[in-house]
Amino acid sequence: MGRIHVLDPHVVNQIAAGEVVERPASVVKELVENALDAGATRIGVEVAGGGRDLIEVRDDGHGIAAEDLERIFLAHATSKIQAVEDLRHVATMGFRGEALASIGSVSRASIVSRLPDRDDAWRVEDVEGRISPVTPAAGSPGTIVRVEQLFAHVPARRKFLRTPQTELGHIRALMGRFALAFPHIGFRLVQAGHVLLDAPPQTDRRLRIAQVHGDEVARGVLKAQALDDEPTLEAWIGPPSLTRRDSTLEQVFLDGRHIRDRTVAHAVREAYRDLLPPGGRRPVAFLFLSLDPGRVDVNVHPGKTEVRWHDPSAVHRVVRRTLRAALEGARPGHGVELPEAAHDHGASRVAAVEHAFLRGAGRPAEAPAFSFPAAARHEGGPDPWQPVQAPERPASRTTLGGLRPIGQALGTYLLLEDGDELVLVDQHALHERVLFDRINARLSEQGKLEVQRMLVPSVVHLEPAALARLLEATDVLKTLGWLVEAFGTDAVAVHGIPAVLRRPDPEAALEEIVELLERGSREGLDRTALVSEAVDRMACRAAVMAGDSLHNDEIVALLEQAESLNHSHSCPHGRPTRLTLTKAQLERWFHRTV
Ligand code: ADP
Ligand code: MG
Repeated sequence: MGRIHVLDPHVVNQIAAGEVVERPASVVKELVENALDAGATRIGVEVAGGGRDLIEVRDDGHGIAAEDLERIFLAHATSKIQAVEDLRHVATMGFRGEALASIGSVSRASIVSRLPDRDDAWRVEDVEGRISPVTPAAGSPGTIVRVEQLFAHVPARRKFLRTPQTELGHIRALMGRFALAFPHIGFRLVQAGHVLLDAPPQTDRRLRIAQVHGDEVARGVLKAQALDDEPTLEAWIGPPSLTRRDSTLEQVFLDGRHIRDRTVAHAVREAYRDLLPPGGRRPVAFLFLSLDPGRVDVNVHPGKTEVRWHDPSAVHRVVRRTLRAALEGARPGHGVELPEAAHDHGASRVAAVEHAFLRGAGRPAEAPAFSFPAAARHEGGPDPWQPVQAPERPASRTTLGGLRPIGQALGTYLLLEDGDELVLVDQHALHERVLFDRINARLSEQGKLEVQRMLVPSVVHLEPAALARLLEATDVLKTLGWLVEAFGTDAVAVHGIPAVLRRPDPEAALEEIVELLERGSREGLDRTALVSEAVDRMACRAAVMAGDSLHNDEIVALLEQAESLNHSHSCPHGRPTRLTLTKAQLERWFHRTV
C-alpha cells in the first residue's frame, strides 16, 4: 500500500459519476431537473443512439451568467444551497452540485447559455474533465446542454449500457413521468427526427395523461382526491377493468419528484385487493402526493427516488382510503370501458364482466358477448359438459329465491338452475367470499372476531425472533380471535383460535401471521392494514377447498349465505365465483334456434 494522498478532482468526479450517472436516462434526468429548477416552461430533449452518442437538453429558463459558467463543471458547484441548514428546506430538484461535474468527467459536455435580459450568449466545454475557458457564442435565452459520447473512455461503464433501443425506452419512460408531474410545462423528446413525446403545456391533468399514455388510459382513469389530509393526494386510477401486465403504470410522485416507495405501493395493492382480475394484473395508478418537507426526508438516496416518511402509516391510510373509496364508488358508464384487447384469456374476460357487476351492482346495460373460458374449448381438457356426478337433488328451498341446486360437479363446482339460467359456482371462491364478508362485517360491528376456546391449550414452537414479533402484536392477535401466551422462551400456548377457522391448525396459521407481522414492520403497515391482510388469508384458509365433497344441506347453506351478500360475484382475489349460461345460449349452442 502506498502513502496517503488526496484524490485528484477528476478522479473524484468520475467516482461520483458512478453514483449519479448510471445510464443515459440518468443524464437526461439530471439535465431536465436543472431546467425545471431554472424555471423553464418548455424543455426539449434530443438524443442519438439511445443517448450514448448524444443527449441535448434545451430550456427557456433563467440561464447562467458567464462568470458562473466558469465554475459550473466544478464539483460541488451549486447555486441552490449554501449551508447545511438549507438542506432542510430545499425546494429544488437538485442541490448537491454534483451532476454537471460528474457528467463532464465521463463525456464530452458543453453548455451554451443566455440570460433572458441579455443579448450575449456564452459557452463552456468539459471534455472528460478538461474544462475550457468561457467563450462568446450564439443562442436564444435559456440554456442548452449537450452531452456527447457518454462513457466513451470509461469502458467499465460503457459495458453496462444496453442496446440503444432499451436506453431510449428508459429515456421515454422518464420523460413521460416528468410530463405527468408537471402538466403546465411543455416537454418534447426527439430521436433522429422521430418525435417520441410531444406534450405542449397543459392545464388539465387528464389531457396530459392522454399526451403521455394515449387515449385509452386517459379516458379510463378516475380521479380521486384527498385535499385535506396529510399528505394531500391527487390520484388518477384505473378501474379494475383497466390493467397492465406489469407495474410500469403505477407511478408515485411526491411534490413533483417521482419516487419508489413500498408503503405507497402496498397501500395501492390494498385498495385494489379483491377487485383485480387474476393472473397478477397490475392497476393503472398515477398518484400525486404533497407533504410539508419537514415530514419526509427526500435525501436518503443518491438518485433521490426513495424517501423516508416520518409517519408512514398516515401515508398508507390516505392512499388506501382515497383509492378504495373511489373504486367502490365507480360506476360503469362514466367512460370506463371494457377490458383492453390485451386481455388474453377468457377467464379474465369473465372476471371483467363480473367486475362490471361488482361496480354497478347490476348488469351492464349491454351485456358483453359471452365467451367460454378458452380451456373449456380445448380437446382433452376438462369437459364442462360431462354429466354431473351424484346428481341427487337437494330439496329446493324457497329461501334461495329462484335458485334450485342440482348438485356438485367434478368435486368442485356447484350446479344450479336459476330461472332461465344454468349457473356453475366455484365452491371455494364463493365460500371464501362469504367468509371474507362475514368476517369483515363482524369486525366492523364488534371490533374483534369470536374466539373458540381450546380445552387443552396447544403449544406451538417458534424461533425467538418470531416469538418476539408475535408477543408484541397480542393486540392484533386478540382482534383476530387468537388467545396466545408465552410458554417458556421458544413457544406460545394457544388458548383460543378464531372461531371461523374450519380446520384448526394453529401452527400454520400462526406462522402465516408472523410472516405478515414481519412484512408489516418492513413496509410500515398500520394496524388496519395488518388486520385486513390477516382476514384475507383467514378467509382463504377457512373456506372449503376445491375437491371437498359437500353434502346437499351444506350446498344449500352456502348458497343461502351467499344470497345475502352483495359482492358474491367474485372471490376476494378477484376470481369470478360463477359462470352463467342462459337458456338462449344453450339453445344456440345446440342449434335449437335458427
Ligand atoms: P445542482 O443542480 O445540484 O445544483 P448541477 O451540477 O446539476 O448541481 O448544476 C450546477 C449549477 O448549475 C446549478 O446549481 C445551477 O445554478 C446551474 N445550472 C445547471 N443547469 C442549469 C440550467 N439549465 N439553467 C440554469 N442554471 C443551471
Ligand atoms: Mg442538478
